[in-house]
Amino acid sequence: MINMAKPIIGDEEKKAVLEVLDSGILAQGPRVAAFEEGFARMCGVKHAIATSSGTTALHLALLAHGIGEGDEVITSPFTFIASANSVLYVGGTPVFVDIDPRTFNMDVSKIEAAITPHTKAILPVHLYGLTCDMDAIMVIAKKHNLAVIEDACQSHAAEFKGKRAGSFGTGTFSFYPTKNMTSAEGGMITTDDDAIAEECKVIRNHGMRRRYYHDELGYNFRMTDVHAAIGNAQLGKLDTHNAKRAQNAAFYDSHLKGVTTPFVPEGYKHVYHQYTIRVPGGKRDALREYLKEREIGTEVYYPVPIHEQGFYMEMFGSHQVFPATEAAALEVLSIPVHPSLSQADLEKVANTINKFMAGK
Ligand SMILES: *Cc1c(COP(=O)(O)O)cnc(C)c1O
Repeated sequence: MINMAKPIIGDEEKKAVLEVLDSGILAQGPRVAAFEEGFARMCGVKHAIATSSGTTALHLALLAHGIGEGDEVITSPFTFIASANSVLYVGGTPVFVDIDPRTFNMDVSKIEAAITPHTKAILPVHLYGLTCDMDAIMVIAKKHNLAVIEDACQSHAAEFKGKRAGSFGTGTFSFYPTKNMTSAEGGMITTDDDAIAEECKVIRNHGMRRRYYHDELGYNFRMTDVHAAIGNAQLGKLDTHNAKRAQNAAFYDSHLKGVTTPFVPEGYKHVYHQYTIRVPGGKRDALREYLKEREIGTEVYYPVPIHEQGFYMEMFGSHQVFPATEAAALEVLSIPVHPSLSQADLEKVANTINKFMAGK
């Protein structure tokens, strides 16, 4: 079976974990601090704050920006549920704008029409490893005095005009096992803003500035040193692994026929968290089945747009329509692109897809 994802855990990760266990400092220790420092450097930002997951990173970033009851946050309906749920956690309302069908990211030309007096932030999602148009988003945010919280959970080290994902506004990352780098579970917030960084650290640790004095409602969103040790080892391999993903993607780009391959606009560096094709003519599900029968794993990210999820329709009604998102949900198929694929795997995937597309 050619799988969709395969975390690459080597001796370095194992050794680092054992060192933490032997050290006796299991939480909020030197490994967390080192991981934060290394990650901030990788992103090109002043501060990085480690969290227990990508979801808690999003939740914490929204809290640190003071977003709460009655506030609106503009985001994409074509993403993992956590992007929008984090807005609900703080009592806010996610306001969706449709995607650009070529990039699968928020259509920036639709953002301004969605802004109301209640809008407090834009939450762009850098889907599949490709950043949003951050020039346009930063201009709109500045003009309307909005915070920008980037969901970069799929875009470690992706670049927009030479600047890394998570370095435009407040960045949020996930280290779930299937992401481009992992800490088993874990997350990170990135920012150049001293005050936001400080607020994140305080809320992450029960609103505690002084030991056992709690000035505000906080949470336990901390990362352990065991997870940070794995994360640190993985961070060192991120460039190599991303380069291998890009190589695999280039192979598919030049070999796949009859499907739409990923579009990378000029000046963007895609890190291929997913290699997502569009399968025209209603053949997506049949192609998926055909590949499965030939031991090739695929996945649909995401079959149900967020505005069509049951509990969102209960909360916000079923009247919302986003044609580009809904069309994408019916056509997208992500195929294996992870760094452990062999040349034979790549050839098998491409040949099998081509055979199906030519034959039917
Ligand atoms: C993975 C992911 C998250 C959530 O990260 P977790 O670490 O699983 O909590 C949020 N947004 C997007 C786009 C993701 O892919």
